[in-house]
Parts: sequence; structure tokens; C-alpha cells
Amino acid sequence: MSNPIFRTLQEKLDQYSMGFPKTESGIEIKILEKLFSIDDAKMFLQLSPMLETPDKVSLRVEKSPEETSGILADMAHRGLLFSLKKGDTIRYGAIPFVHGLFEFQINKMDRELAAMVRQYMDEEFKDALSFSLSNFLAQLVFSNHYAQVDEALCTGCETCLERCQMDAIFLTEEVHAVVNRDRCIGCGLCVTTCPTEAILLEQKDEQTYQVPPKTSFEQMMTMAQKRGVI
Ligand code: SF4
Ligand code: SF4
Repeated sequence: MSNPIFRTLQEKLDQYSMGFPKTESGIEIKILEKLFSIDDAKMFLQLSPMLETPDKVSLRVEKSPEETSGILADMAHRGLLFSLKKGDTIRYGAIPFVHGLFEFQINKMDRELAAMVRQYMDEEFKDALSFSLSNFLAQLVFSNHYAQVDEALCTGCETCLERCQMDAIFLTEEVHAVVNRDRCIGCGLCVTTCPTEAILLEQKDEQTYQVPPKTSFEQMMTMAQKRGVI
């Protein structure tokens, strides 16, 4: 019977980035038990992706700054934390399973861990990955503009239909182009190729306007919200 702290750790990791969902077999717990000791798990659970100095972390883990610094450095060395050194200051933060824990193990992955990760991918993670990737791409690809055709200038030449990679433009019976806003990603390719300058990009209204995430942390939290884990 595994220590319940590994379930807590799994739930914490599931909040980050592409998640770390549980499986029926419990293979995700076996992966965590292989990577983390119980003390590692306790320390990880005290951290967040916001980078902090060992001094700051030591205030809430009831250890001296020196001991905390040693533990964090060792965990970062084993690929369990992210570390960033600027000048004389080094700060540490928790990392997701992907991109993070998994990639940091690549160079030292043994057969047992590789088989565990393969099983986990097959059982659960590829679905989480696929869902998160589509959300991630949606965040990257979104635009606050869409194309708009001026019917009076459109000759129905169909250049824009060929140019649009999203199949977002169609011709009406009156033979002028119309943009399907649900498909348009505002890339502007049609605008630059229209021979009569009949297409312009317009800004979306306030209800559909999206503010891009300011930091990777904010992006990670947004993805977790979309996955319904926070
Ligand atoms: S390229 Fe311009 S003129 Fe040709 S169909 Fe599209 S909007 Fe109309
Ligand atoms: S802006 Fe891009 S996606 Fe939108 S209609 Fe033009 S080519 Fe298609």
C-alpha cells in the first residue's frame, strides 16, 4: 500500500500544464514512487511554479535555510524541480510532469521507468496530452481579429478561398465572398492576396476579445481551469 502523499502529489501535478491524471491501474503512483522519496514529495508539495529562494521556502518547512537549500539543490539535480540562478541568487519552483519531470529524466531513464511511462501514456496520458495540446494551441493561435469582406469591392475571383487554410471563406449565390467567423483565425492571408483589396481584418467585439496570458504560470493555470482540475 503506497503512502497517501503520492496521491496528493499526483493531484497537485494534475493541476499543472498538461496535467497528470490518475489511472485505474495506479501506474502514475508507481512512477511518482520511483522518482520521489516521501521527503521529496513533502518538499514538492510546499512549492509552486513561482520561483522562490531557499530562505523563503525555509520559513514554511521548519528547516534551516542551509538545510532547505541543500534539499532543493539535490532535488533540482535529480530533475524534480526547476532551478534558476541569477548572479548569486538561486531560486526553485515546482514543475509539471510534462514539460518538466518527464524531460528531466530522459538522460537517466532506466528500462523500468521507460516501461512505466509507456504504460501511463497508453492508459491515460495521451488523452490528457491531446486535450491539453489542443487547448495550448488554441491559446497560441487565437487572434483578436477576423476577416471581413466588402461586398461592393469583391469580384468573386475565389483567390481568398484558395488562400484560406481554415476553409473559412465561401462564395454566396450572388458570387461574393463571405467569412465564417467561427472558422476564421484572423491570420490575414486572404487580406494580402485579394486583388481588389476587398478584405480587411477587423477587431473582435469586447465579448469575444481574448487577453493573452502574461506569464507561463498564468497560461498553465488557464489550461488547468479548462481541464477542470482547479
Ligand atoms: S480574393 Fe477578394 S475579390 Fe476575390 S473572392 Fe476573395 S474577397 Fe472577393
Ligand atoms: S484571416 Fe485567415 S483564417 Fe480568416 S478568412 Fe482570411 S485566410 Fe482565412
